Amino acid sequence: MNEKSELKGGTAVEVAPNRIGPAALAALLGLLDPDRCRAWLFEFLHPGEAGTRCPGCGAELSERRARSYAAFRKTACLTCGLQFRATTGTGIHHCQLSHPEIILAAALTEAGADSAQIAGMLKRGLDTARIWQGRLDGLQRGGAEKRAGENTTENG
Ligand SMILES: [Zn+2]
Repeated sequence: MNEKSELKGGTAVEVAPNRIGPAALAALLGLLDPDRCRAWLFEFLHPGEAGTRCPGCGAELSERRARSYAAFRKTACLTCGLQFRATTGTGIHHCQLSHPEIILAAALTEAGADSAQIAGMLKRGLDTARIWQGRLDGLQRGGAEKRAGENTTENG
C-alpha cells in the first residue's frame, strides 16, 4: 500500500514489524527439505551399519527391506521375524510431528527456545510443544539401548 514510502534519513527503526528474525523463524519449517530431514534423522537414530541390520537379531537386511527401514516404513526381519520401524524403541515412536518439525524443534530447543516459541514455529498448541520438547531433549542414538531393560540381551 505504501508505495510512496518516505525515507527518513538516519532514523533507526527500533521496532520493525517485518524484522528478519521472526520472519525467518516462521519460514524455517517450510525451507527444510523433508527427504533430507528423513535421511538425516534415520542416520542419527541408526548410524552406519545399524541402518542396514535388524535391530533385534542383527541380521543383514535385504536391499529392499533396508530401503523400507530408512523410509520409516514397517519392516520385518526374515531371520527372526521381528517387525519394526526406524522409530521402534526410540523416544519418537508414534510421534505425530513431521521429520522437519522434529529436527527444527530439537534444534531450537537446544538453542534455547522456549515452549511458546516452539509452539509458534510448529503452529501447534503449547501442550504439544511442551511434550515434544521434553521428549526430543532426551532423544538419543541407539533405540536398542533404551529397550535393554525390557529385553535382557547378552553382550560379549
Ligand atoms: Zn532379526
